[in-house]
Amino acid sequence: MPDLLKNLDGLIDRASNRLIWKIASRTRIVATSRPIVSFTFDDVPDTALTNGAAILEKYGAQGTFYIAGGLEARVESDRTLIGREGCLDLFRRGHEIGCHTFAHHRVRSYGGALSADLDANARYLDEAGITRAATNFAFPYNSAWPLARQELGRRYRTCRGAGEAINRGPVDPLMLKSVEIRQPEDHAKRLTGWIDDVAANPGWLVFFTHDIADRPTPYGCTPATFEHLVRHARERGCEILTVDAATRALGWEVDPR
Ligand SMILES: [Zn+2]
Repeated sequence: MPDLLKNLDGLIDRASNRLIWKIASRTRIVATSRPIVSFTFDDVPDTALTNGAAILEKYGAQGTFYIAGGLEARVESDRTLIGREGCLDLFRRGHEIGCHTFAHHRVRSYGGALSADLDANARYLDEAGITRAATNFAFPYNSAWPLARQELGRRYRTCRGAGEAINRGPVDPLMLKSVEIRQPEDHAKRLTGWIDDVAANPGWLVFFTHDIADRPTPYGCTPATFEHLVRHARERGCEILTVDAATRALGWEVDPR
């Protein structure tokens, strides 16, 4: 039964991710002569702060950290998530704090309760001392939901899903595509191919990952691999920008409606 439910979840995710493209009403253009790369983190594990943020800073760059306040300081078997102090530390160091819902459920499961959940996360971040409201969102489980477009579009400039693609030409900002950095380690290391691709044909490449640890979970990578990717982006002349900085570089801060 759990397997059946899991398959059903996957099926609905795929169907809604396709549907969301069909009814996309807001198109933005990725027009850039320089390749842009963003490194983003979900949830966020403490090693994304201690290792991930530090590596980005070593290369003069910042990342986007999508926080779900309901996961505050949660200790799991293979990772510990950051709390308010961690969020504030990242914010003070110039990184972007984005929204990842409060309760970290699939967006479609909220129904009419989505707005209250997003308010709760905004309150959480405000109480943590983050003085700038989140302008960008990442779907938990990368699971988009067409019926939430209006609510999300009213609050955020972009919503990040997965999609394993570079954002180029006309894109749906509420279904921003990203490429996952995850295990196996040799696969994560070969993601430099995406950087070569965006360097050769400029667009906006958004990476997402979780922990950056010597013994990473299946959803993260080692500090050496993460640094390898950041260094490669620098060497290939990419602008490494937070999602917020990228949207401003692309002129997306103006309301299209
Ligand atoms: Zn998540």
